[in-house]
Amino acid sequence: MNDMRIALVTGANKGIGYEIAAGLGRQGYRVGVGARDEQRGEDAVAKLRASGVEAFVVPLDVTDDESVTTAAALIEDRFGRLDALVNNAGITGGVPQNPAGVDLGIIRTVVETNVIGVVRVTNAMLPLLRRSPSPRIVNMSSSVGSLARQSGPGSATTTGPIAVAYAPSKTFLNAVTVQYARELDGTGILINAACPGYVATDLNGFRGVRTPEQGAATAIRLATLPDDGPTGGFFEDDGEVPW
Ligand code: NAP
Repeated sequence: MNDMRIALVTGANKGIGYEIAAGLGRQGYRVGVGARDEQRGEDAVAKLRASGVEAFVVPLDVTDDESVTTAAALIEDRFGRLDALVNNAGITGGVPQNPAGVDLGIIRTVVETNVIGVVRVTNAMLPLLRRSPSPRIVNMSSSVGSLARQSGPGSATTTGPIAVAYAPSKTFLNAVTVQYARELDGTGILINAACPGYVATDLNGFRGVRTPEQGAATAIRLATLPDDGPTGGFFEDDGEVPW
């Protein structure tokens, strides 16, 4: 049973996270479906199993210390290690978010989930990842967090609503990813940030133009990198995203 590689995807009960779980499952991973609502997690697991994926539910609210500790204990008890962690769970906090007059609580809430949640989950899972022969971490970012794409004469290629909580939370997450890559250099743990493109999910009222399956592709590739693959990078389907 423990010869299968083990993956954990946070926020995997729907959207892009669900498709990351499905894709890793198709590649032979046993996939932990992180879900803050256990029933939504069970429903997703049932659907994944019906499609032939070895899935199990991991109740997991990334903003809750106890929930994250319990999730790590669950994986440790059942498998003793983790091969791939995909930090996918994320929120926008509602857009537009104009800087002037923004509710500071929205910034705190978004950073708590999109950044601090990733650090909390990653640190809880690191001891398990260190036991894997080829550990991988993927942080689900967004090109809206790319400063290069948002600023500079003629380089503002990012459209979409102003979002003073959401977009900088992804910039922050990118910077956090780089710091982990520095610390984990030489350990065999590869950690990268992924942008899924503009995907039709609940997050944007299904206004995105890509399918969740298309949005999952880069994260799946980064979760299954060969040992000589990159670390500390930021990728989308077409290659690297400028910081
Ligand atoms: P989604 O359909 O809204 O799914 C988000 C997932 O995160 C849900 O499973 C949600 O759970 C979960 N989640 C939210 N807060 C959580 C928490 N505190 N603890 C645990 N899980 C939590 O959104 P999506 O579009 O698939 O987004 C997935 C990731 O891709 C996010 O990080 C997002 O920022 C990123 N992204 C998306 C797009 C896009 O165009 N859609 C573009 C760039 C980046 P519930 O079901 O319980 O709410």
